Amino acid sequence: MTRSDRPVVLVLGGTTEGREVAAALAARDDVRPITSLAGRLSRPGAVDGEVRTGGFGGTDELVEWIAEHEVEVVADVTHPFATGISANAARACAKAGVPLIALRRPGWTATAGDDWHPAADLADAASQVASLGRRVLLAIGRQEVAAFAGVDDAWFLLRAIDPPDPPLPRHHELLLARGPFALQEERTLLREHAIDVVVTKDSGGDATRAKLDAARELGLPVLVVRRPPAPQGDGITTVATTDELVGAVADAVMRT
Ligand code: NAP
Repeated sequence: MTRSDRPVVLVLGGTTEGREVAAALAARDDVRPITSLAGRLSRPGAVDGEVRTGGFGGTDELVEWIAEHEVEVVADVTHPFATGISANAARACAKAGVPLIALRRPGWTATAGDDWHPAADLADAASQVASLGRRVLLAIGRQEVAAFAGVDDAWFLLRAIDPPDPPLPRHHELLLARGPFALQEERTLLREHAIDVVVTKDSGGDATRAKLDAARELGLPVLVVRRPPAPQGDGITTVATTDELVGAVADAVMRT
């Protein structure tokens, strides 16, 4: 099978797991992965295989893209908080009659020694944070930091890949960094900045969980923002790991 004869798999990415899936599919000779990135980052990490960048323009435009590029399977490997694109993918695949395999990685669970505090959403986390600490590691990505802009009675270490969108909290320092992060790095970061509370989305997965382990070791509270519900649908196959996803994509391609 030449490359152009291979069945096209659209990988909706923008995550560490998306890169892993792209690498695994690009190494196979029975599929042709095209990874789609939203285009939010100034320097997206390297992705194996073909890449396209930018929003599709909505569900109907995604249906058109799927038809035009003869996509046979869509893999949703986006972040659990990226509910817009996941909902579009669910609707578009149903309309196009194309199977959708979605990675729904489990959320994190607290273990003995963790001091976790749930937050319903980022606004709720912002309203709670100063009651838990005064030096905050805010590790929620760059897009929604504005939810904390009104919190004047705490200092924030804002960690993101690119500078966050304003407005920002009055007292802050910016740390531009890209995960995955190792436990030792996280321990050092929390100590060096005298962090006394960590705020995170319940992203799940291994790439960014070390901060939770470091917080437990140091006895720090963690505000964990609950994840929004994932879109449901009849034609969606959900899997919990990237290995399962690659296997499910291969099975789906064989059936098409
Ligand atoms: P979102 O709210 O679900 O998406 C908003 C719009 O952005 C979508 O309707 C779509 O535009 C476009 N879009 C998003 N992901 C896309 C993709 N992979 N390929 C093409 N278009 C995409 O998404 P978000 O929360 O802004 O996240 C954007 C990207 O960052 C996602 O790829 C996600 O995996 C990654 N990411 C997000 C988070 C997070 O916390 N939200 C964390 C880490 C990584 P159209 O309707 O025009 O197609």
